[in-house]
Amino acid sequence: MSKRIAVYGSTGSIGTQTLEVIRENPTLFSAEVITAHNNVDLLIEQAIEFKPNIVVISNETLYSKINNALSPLGIKVYAGEKALIEVAASDVYDLMLAAIVGYAGLSSTLAAIEAGKQIALANKETLVVAGDLVTQMVIKHKSLLIPVDSEHSAIFQCLVGEHQNAIEKIILTASGGPFLGKKPNYLINVKKDHALQHPNWAMGAKITIDSASLMNKGLEMIEAKWLFGLENDQIDVLVHPQSIIHSMVQFEDGSVKAQMGLPDMKLPIQYAMGFPNRIKNNHKRLEFKNYPSLTFEAPDTKTFRNLALAKDAMYQGGNAPCILNAANEVVVDAFLRNKISFLEMSDIIEKCLGKISHIALPGLNDYIESNTETRKYASSLI
Ligand code: NAD
Ligand code: MG
Repeated sequence: MSKRIAVYGSTGSIGTQTLEVIRENPTLFSAEVITAHNNVDLLIEQAIEFKPNIVVISNETLYSKINNALSPLGIKVYAGEKALIEVAASDVYDLMLAAIVGYAGLSSTLAAIEAGKQIALANKETLVVAGDLVTQMVIKHKSLLIPVDSEHSAIFQCLVGEHQNAIEKIILTASGGPFLGKKPNYLINVKKDHALQHPNWAMGAKITIDSASLMNKGLEMIEAKWLFGLENDQIDVLVHPQSIIHSMVQFEDGSVKAQMGLPDMKLPIQYAMGFPNRIKNNHKRLEFKNYPSLTFEAPDTKTFRNLALAKDAMYQGGNAPCILNAANEVVVDAFLRNKISFLEMSDIIEKCLGKISHIALPGLNDYIESNTETRKYASSLI
């Protein structure tokens, strides 16, 4: 029987690539649920092709357009965040591909965890905002998080068969983004069109800006801490501009395992969907002779202050990463609307971390309040 997939955020970069994997493997997977926020036309097109059981549009004002198009086909259409949560908790699917971007993905992912589901997690913000709570809930409800983020998928793959062997450290690789090697006097003038041009990966707008500012790697350090149960000082970041080594694990005997491949998110997506099995495909293969030099350098955290801010927030713990994430979502949105400059993003995030009260052991409501409060304060600074 095929695995029934709920693709949360099906119209995004990860969502559309997930549907490609389903299209390539019709006997293994079916798209039972697809969801989106605004892109009605693509959502309708996807529903006509994949014939899901349920379609959810989280922006309720768009309900009737979708319902008019899809209910004659026998597809159930729901709207709103509450519907996202109810469907996440239901038994119509086997595995959630959590690919909503940002804090907006938290509530539905939590509902899936409470329902004991397997979750292929692309939405890293869920673990950044509330990693301790999320990981405790995963254990309590016998849920399973399988990483989709390429670095975390790499580490997860390196750990297969190593369950009795402790990790000494992990090394998260970073491409460095479009501004690798640049200094503040250059970054002061960069605009969104330039920041949106990532050298190796085609991704959604928010994560592309996060990659340019290195915030993405900071979020990934926090994501890794919770996914793999690591201490803060076990997580290193190394710039590797070719994006061939997706990340590495160093064990206590000094041995280092790396997972490699061409930069293509369909591999970590299909690995998470098929886990523990690998699925044969005919995607382009890595030819080592085309990459005669794989290079590595330390990240420049003096220029790319977001990485330093994220690392500080990770060491502070409690609600600090939640504040960091909320401030970052606000400033990235403002940068994309040309309201603030590239370097001002870090200034505002730093002010938020200084202003919003620290809570050492937050519960879910504390996270929700910290998120709201930070957004309000960050918006007031723009
Ligand atoms: P995207 O912007 O391309 O797509 C986001 C999806 O989320 C869309 O389907 C959109 O409809 C939905 N969405 C947006 N706001 C929403 C809201 N308020 N409520 C409900 N749904 C909403 O983003 P993406 O690049 O596909 O990234 C998705 C997640 O995966 C992010 O957390 C990102 O960090 C992570 N990720 C992405 C990549 C990548 O290559 N794109 C790689 C690693 C991790
Ligand atoms: Mg990544």
